[in-house]
Amino acid sequence: RARAAAGPGAIPRVDFDEIGGQETAKKELKEALDFVVQRDRIRQLGIRPLKGILLTGPPGTGKTLLAKAAASYTDSVFLAASGSEFVEMYAGVGASRVRDLFRRAREMARHAGKASAIIFLDELEVLGGRRGAHQSHLEYDQTLNQLLVEMDGIQTDADVQIVVVGATNRPDLLDPALLRPGRFDRIVQVDLPDLKGRLAILEIHVRQKPLGPDVDLEQIARQTFGFSGAQLESLTNEAAILALREGAEAIEQRHLVEAIDKVILGEKVDRRPTP
Ligand code: ATP
Repeated sequence: RARAAAGPGAIPRVDFDEIGGQETAKKELKEALDFVVQRDRIRQLGIRPLKGILLTGPPGTGKTLLAKAAASYTDSVFLAASGSEFVEMYAGVGASRVRDLFRRAREMARHAGKASAIIFLDELEVLGGRRGAHQSHLEYDQTLNQLLVEMDGIQTDADVQIVVVGATNRPDLLDPALLRPGRFDRIVQVDLPDLKGRLAILEIHVRQKPLGPDVDLEQIARQTFGFSGAQLESLTNEAAILALREGAEAIEQRHLVEAIDKVILGEKVDRRPTP
């Protein structure tokens, strides 16, 4: 899956409407983000700024999409980095990368004339694991300490407000220091979608695809218990490929049904150990 690593901070145009299901997560995230939107009121009332939001949940459930939607919602520039990008064997490299990321976020927001920046840190458990738990622990510790320093340094009266959105599927591995007040003090659970959520996600991903009259997405949603949003997206894509191969004008129900198996089998093949 292509994702611009710590790439140029543009304002992504991901609307919350393009994220299917996840109603609770969206609501909680928006409530937290209103602290950024109403920054002047927050400052006036002397409320601590919101610095970090942690999205937890299985892979492919839309955490990256939610972080991008958070940037659109708050009119912030968006920078993304993955925990593993900070892992280096040379001491101090990870820490200086963290410092650079925050500096770049401020510069980009200023350059774009924006009052806020969202830094998305995927795989947070890699960089934010318990200190002392890693073999080359000194390097990890320095990197994590730098993240804590940067988060503690976020000020309400700064010209650019930074909000760190972290994502992990292993919150249990995080160093408790990250979860203390003033750091990631909002936790938003992003679960696998339920039936309604799966239907909503399927509907989003067939928007641009021609569908035959026999298509019953609800039936597909019922048959895909346990699928993530990413798997449902891949299912609609597989169905379109099957239709193309047959020279069909539109996707029919049987293409979708066959695609369910394709996605399940595809995952099984992917998981086989390489010889
Ligand atoms: P990871 O932990 O693996 O990074 P993630 O939770 O960040 O996964 P995303 O990268 O946001 O997941 O999702 C991958 C793709 O799956 C999205 O680009 C989108 O096409 C699809 N997708 C996932 N969840 C949803 C959703 N709730 N609604 C619509 N599409 C979704």
